[in-house]
Order: sequence, then C-alpha cells, then structure tokens
Amino acid sequence: MLGPDRFAPRLHDVPHEELEAAGIRGLIVDLDNTLLGFRETELAQEHLDWVTRARQRGFRIVMLSNNLSERVNTLAARLDVACFSNALKPLPFGFLKAKRRLQLRRREIAVVGDQLFTDVLGGKLCGLYTILTEPIEAKDFPITRFFRFFERLMLHGRRG
Ligand SMILES: [Mg+2]
Repeated sequence: MLGPDRFAPRLHDVPHEELEAAGIRGLIVDLDNTLLGFRETELAQEHLDWVTRARQRGFRIVMLSNNLSERVNTLAARLDVACFSNALKPLPFGFLKAKRRLQLRRREIAVVGDQLFTDVLGGKLCGLYTILTEPIEAKDFPITRFFRFFERLMLHGRRG
C-alpha cells in the first residue's frame, strides 16, 4: 500500500518520455523539498527547465502543498502552474481538487513528492501513480522530521 511506484533522486531525474510512455498526462507536484529546499526562496534552474519543458510537451501541472498560501502562490506563479495550498495531504480532498483541475483520469496522473506519508500515501489513496523523490535538504519542519523516522523504517533503504 505504501510503496511508491517509482523512486527518483530529483524531480528533473524523471524523463518526460518515460511518463508519456506510461500514459501520464498530468502531474501533481509537491513544493517543499521536492521543487524547493526548505531554506531556498529561488527555484533551481533544473526544476524551472523541467517544468517548462513538461508544459511545452503538453503535460498539465498542479502544485499541491501543505504549506501556507503565500509561499505556494509565489512559486506557482513563477512556474505558471495552478496551485492548491494548505492541502492537508495525505487526506484525499486536495488530491481530488487537483485531479478535477487537471481534468484527467486517475491513470493519467502522477504525484511527485518527497514524503511517503503525505505525497505517496495520499496519491495512493486516490489511485494515482506515485513518484518519491529524495528531499532537497535534510532539514525539515519538525513534524516532517517526525515522519521521516517512520519513512526510513518503511522503506528499509529501498529509496534511490
Ligand atoms: Mg515535501
């Protein structure tokens, strides 16, 4: 139930061609530690390029974050993608809202995020394809650090 469908060190390590071959046409992307490090305010060029090329290839992208709206809105605007903040992942509401926005079927949507208990669990509860990335920075919000401990137990070093 909890295992992601795929591991990737970073978002930009996932080839667009691979997603297309799997029938994926839409992406629900996490913000913190997936697109942007905990202390970073600027997006890495690799992530900007990856998102830009994904959109040029016709992928629909929605950002889904448990973080507060201001930070999320700013970043989403820079990427020119729709966003939902305060998403309460892993609860399904945010994922279902994102799915409605994408206007795609479940099997056409991939969730990308760095957390097993929010991004992957939530995506799986909604029947979506899930990709677990390595967190960009080791330092996290305290609640995230708490869950990282259980993540390590669950994954037994399978990540990567
Ligand atoms: Mg995250």
